[in-house]
Amino acid sequence: MQFEVFTLLPEVFPSYLETSILKRARDRGLINVRVHNIRDYTHDKHHMTDDTPYGGGGGMVMKPEPVFEAIESVLGRFDYAQDASPQTPPASVSNIPIILLTPQGRVFNQTIAKELSAHPHIALLCGRYEGIDERIREHLVTDEISIGDYVLTGGEIPALILIDAISRLLPNVLGDPTGAEDDSHAMGLLEYPHYTRPPEFRGWHAPEVLLSGDHAKIDKWRRQQALERTFKKRPDMLEKAELTKEDLKFIEKLKAGK
Ligand code: SAM
Repeated sequence: MQFEVFTLLPEVFPSYLETSILKRARDRGLINVRVHNIRDYTHDKHHMTDDTPYGGGGGMVMKPEPVFEAIESVLGRFDYAQDASPQTPPASVSNIPIILLTPQGRVFNQTIAKELSAHPHIALLCGRYEGIDERIREHLVTDEISIGDYVLTGGEIPALILIDAISRLLPNVLGDPTGAEDDSHAMGLLEYPHYTRPPEFRGWHAPEVLLSGDHAKIDKWRRQQALERTFKKRPDMLEKAELTKEDLKFIEKLKAGK
C-alpha cells in the first residue's frame, strides 16, 4: 500500500516509521510511505506556506497554492473545468482518497481503518496553524478525518496514527496473520486480557485455564472475558457487536450481577 503524506514538518515522520512493525512492513515492500514537504512547492523568496486570515483574527492559515501544487505534482493535475463542485473528488484521481486530517472530520475508528486499508494508494494532508484555506477542503480534499474530539497543533501525529492502524490490517504486516483479528474493536468488542510467564508473580496467578492446553475452554474463557470487559468499560459497543445466543445469555448474567 502506498501512502503519500503532505506536511510542513517532514522531520516528524522518520523515527516512528523506522521502528518495529512499520519498519519491517516498509523493508518488505508491504507499505511505502512517501513524505512530501509542502514548502518545496513554494516559489517566493521566503518559501511562504501560510498567511494571515482574511477578516482578521489570530493565527495563520495554510495557503492554497503550495498545497495544490504539492498534491498535483505527486498525484497528477486535476481537470477542474469538468468538476468544480465542493467535496467531489477530481476526476483524474477519484480512486485515491485525499484525506485531510482535521478535528472537524469523521472520527477515526477501526471500521474506517478497515475501509481505508482496501485502497492501494492514499494521500494524507496534515494541517498546521489555524488550518488550511477552505478552498483546499472544497476542491482538493475527498475525505476528512479526526482522531478525536480535541485539538492538536498539527496533523502529523494523526497521519501517523492512520498509517499505523491501516498498516496493521494489511496482509502479512503482522507476524501472526490472525494478530489483528482479536484486537479490541476488530470484532466490535474489547480484547480479552493477556498473561505471559511466570505463571505466578508476587503471589498473583495467571488464570489456570490459560495453562490448561484445552483450546476450546481457552476460547470460551477469552470470549467471556471480552464480553465482560466490553460490558464494564464500553457497554455502548455491545449494541453494535455481532453476538451469538450464548453471548447474549452471558451478558444477561452479567446484567443480573451473576
Ligand atoms: N482551527 C482548527 C479548528 O478549530 O478546526 C484547528 C487547527 S489545529 C490547531 C492545526 C491542525 O492540526 C489541523 O489543521 C489538523 O490538520 C490538525 N489536527 C488538530 N487536531 C486534530 C484532530 N483531532 N484530528 C486530526 N487532525 C487534527
